[in-house]
Amino acid sequence: MTIEQNRKLVTSIPGPKSQALHQNRLQHVGHGVGATLPVYIDSAQGAILVDVDGNQFIDMGSGIGVTTIGHTNEAVVKAVSEQVAKLTHTLFTVTPYIPYVEVCEILNAHMPGDFVKRSALFNSGAEAVENAIKLARKFTKRNEIAVFDHAYHGRTNLTMAMNFKNMPYADGFGPFAGSVTHVPMSYPFHDPEGMTGFEAAQRAINYMEKRIGGKNLAAVVIEPIQGEGGFIVPAPGFLKTLSEWTHANGIVLVADEVQAGIARTGKWFATEHEAGFEPDLMTIAKGIAGGMPISAVTGRAEIMDSSHAGGIGGTFGGNPVASAAAVAVLRQIEAGGVLEKAVHIENVMKPRLLAMQAKYPVIGEIRGRGAMLAIEFILPGTRTPNSAAVDSVVKHCHANGVLVLNAGTYGNVIRFLPSLAISDELINEALDVVEQGIAAL
Ligand SMILES: *Cc1c(COP(=O)(O)O)cnc(C)c1O
Repeated sequence: MTIEQNRKLVTSIPGPKSQALHQNRLQHVGHGVGATLPVYIDSAQGAILVDVDGNQFIDMGSGIGVTTIGHTNEAVVKAVSEQVAKLTHTLFTVTPYIPYVEVCEILNAHMPGDFVKRSALFNSGAEAVENAIKLARKFTKRNEIAVFDHAYHGRTNLTMAMNFKNMPYADGFGPFAGSVTHVPMSYPFHDPEGMTGFEAAQRAINYMEKRIGGKNLAAVVIEPIQGEGGFIVPAPGFLKTLSEWTHANGIVLVADEVQAGIARTGKWFATEHEAGFEPDLMTIAKGIAGGMPISAVTGRAEIMDSSHAGGIGGTFGGNPVASAAAVAVLRQIEAGGVLEKAVHIENVMKPRLLAMQAKYPVIGEIRGRGAMLAIEFILPGTRTPNSAAVDSVVKHCHANGVLVLNAGTYGNVIRFLPSLAISDELINEALDVVEQGIAAL
């Protein structure tokens, strides 16, 4: 690697060059576009970000789980470079090209479920979710959509209506799309003590039957592990029970795998962690192409084919360069070692995080799977969200060269989404910094 895989601070954070660039940005970029940590990144490799002042950060966020394969992954760089010199655009629906089809073929081969699959490609996670719902409505000839408390599905008009949180995603941006109902999620840390996944699913199903009526639902959309919601892993049996009910009622079950999919949790898809959970469609984006913008809907051929030709598409969807990058990522997962690396990261991180939980009463729960792990902070002795603790720990990490992200409906979760290229040493160093931040509370 040309960028040494280590943390290095040569200025205070943000450094003087970043500060100047940020002043300039504020003149030119709309202020509605946020900035978690305004250090201007010049280059990156593996798990290290290098800013314009020469500081090196351990990246525990991967641009929200996007550079799963590692920053500037060699095979991705090569595929993109070759493709960009050859063909950048035709518009697939006008004159097709090979990489688009290749991405679909690979995704179809790896989506769980014993049925014929097809895929279609788009630009963003939200666009994939929108298209999954278009297809579900077309297929079922029904309108209603159910989503879950704490869910996040994007920033377009329809997906704003599907998100749980008003701030920052929806406030003042209405009116919103109708026919979307939120139903109770399985959230083991906050559900009644001892509530099983089956019981939590029955609660949700009962709610849907009473509020909407099973026969009116086109789709139920669920993140098998919620991302922005705070890496909420539903209780065992929840997803399977839900799945049985949607199938019995002719409802399209959509697994939003945008954050949890593509090797992140140690499987191709987070869906695979629960036997009997059988989504009909999956939405895929973030980690699929090493940072290039591309997304997919993959699923049952009869649903994917339910649209008239020309009903599904878009100018840039499945762009040749982004598709070539996706093929380079997906082929590496197929070649082996990548899923295992995500499991290895869990095995390195979880014991340390659990040890912190035993030591610091401000930690309520450690949860997640693979390289998708989180800490939920509480007021000691309660289950009351403690976002002040998160703010303080995140600030400490950023000032010390470790990029971590928060999450959660109440902003009381720190989430870890390291790249799978990260070394054990870097993980441990990042966790040392996190622990210092917690100890200092
Ligand atoms: C990020 C995310 C989206 C939206 O993806 P964009 O590419 O930002 O539009 C949708 N669903 C989930 C679960 C996500 O994490």
